[in-house]
Amino acid sequence: MAEFQRVILIHYHEIGLKGKNRGTFEQRLLRNCKDLLRTFPVVDIHRISGRLVVFLKEGTDLATACACEEMVARIPGVARASCGFKCPRTIEAIYEAAVVALGEAGPFGSFKVQARRNHTDFPIDSMQMNRLVGAVLCEAFPDARVQMKGCDVQVDVEVIQNAAFVYAKSIRGIGGLPVGVSGMVACLLSSGIDSPVATWRMARRGAICIGVHFSGAPVTADTSSYLVDDIAQVLAQTGCIARVYSCAMGDYQRDISVSAPPALRVILYRRLMLKAAQNIARIEGAKALVTGESLGQVASQTLDNIAATDDAVELPILRPLIGTDKQEIIADAQRLGTFDISSQDAPDCCTLFMPRRPETHARIAAVRETESAFPVDTWAAQLAYDAQVTDHRCCAYRPPKGERHA
Ligand code: ATP
Ligand code: MG
Repeated sequence: MAEFQRVILIHYHEIGLKGKNRGTFEQRLLRNCKDLLRTFPVVDIHRISGRLVVFLKEGTDLATACACEEMVARIPGVARASCGFKCPRTIEAIYEAAVVALGEAGPFGSFKVQARRNHTDFPIDSMQMNRLVGAVLCEAFPDARVQMKGCDVQVDVEVIQNAAFVYAKSIRGIGGLPVGVSGMVACLLSSGIDSPVATWRMARRGAICIGVHFSGAPVTADTSSYLVDDIAQVLAQTGCIARVYSCAMGDYQRDISVSAPPALRVILYRRLMLKAAQNIARIEGAKALVTGESLGQVASQTLDNIAATDDAVELPILRPLIGTDKQEIIADAQRLGTFDISSQDAPDCCTLFMPRRPETHARIAAVRETESAFPVDTWAAQLAYDAQVTDHRCCAYRPPKGERHA
């Protein structure tokens, strides 16, 4: 039996809809995939008739191809990933490839064939191909039945200009847009459950994400920084974070906690964090800040407090989880792989100097008045300047000109 070249087909929905931007979007997805699949035996990736095709090295085994398919499905911009074969453009080769592909699809009771040809010069039309390939598969798998609606496995046959692709194993991708098509954002990243999910959601909308973390160091141990490092490594597996700035905020928090009214402390810490993050965003050229806040989830996440924190900065603050339930956020964190890391305990700058009763309806005027006793702009500049920077792999990212952390 002939051995066919293994391929992964990458289907995209949304980027297919982008009219004249389509080329840019496809190029971005292609470059991201090339970079993220670098550890797999990939010969090349091409754009072929409205999708990307990953060509795997001769002799690549099924397990490796499946691992590659799973990786592809996690890349932002991918709607579906399919693992199959490229074969010669003859009906005999298509039969043979279809039998192998269906045999590898795992246990199934029913199937159907979905054939397409994008060149009418192939002598057999789609309907005929469905019937012919279906008949061969029924013979090869006598226990299986053909079922048009709700079948267990769909065998796809795509005939293009000079080859055919046959695949029966498809998995859903995470969807969205390729990282790098929506500009850059600075994400306030704690070691909690929410902010890694918020960051990931922004990356899935095509944004290049820069993480900004505030630890309680030097007053507490910087355990939270290590956890954020682990979280960033998970996000970086799919290019969802480019670098992380880690800021030691303990000293400034202590100063605030000594003289500010307890109820307002949390808001003052938040405003300082946002001001420092805004400075970092400006260094990086990021056009918005991102937090993992969800309305009403904790006392500090009320509409009044949101207004009082928004007031601290000029850049827009995006809150991708604002209307999301905790259970949904947890499910996303589990799918993403950050949940277990975030469930570990670490004192960060927020657990430190926490008042017993934080203000839930802060008034902007009162907050500004209290804040004016502290040199917050100088502190925010210092926090940004002193930050430790860790780079992660995100091929769409370009460091700022005149990089100070060379
Ligand atoms: P998370 O699980 O993301 O920590 P949370 O539900 O614990 O969120 P808060 O602690 O009130 O909520 O924080 C709200 C948001 O403020 C976080 O989602 C994050 O974006 C930002 N934030 C809080 N603490 C820090 C920190 N130490 N460093 C950076 N950002 C932080
Ligand atoms: Mg938190």
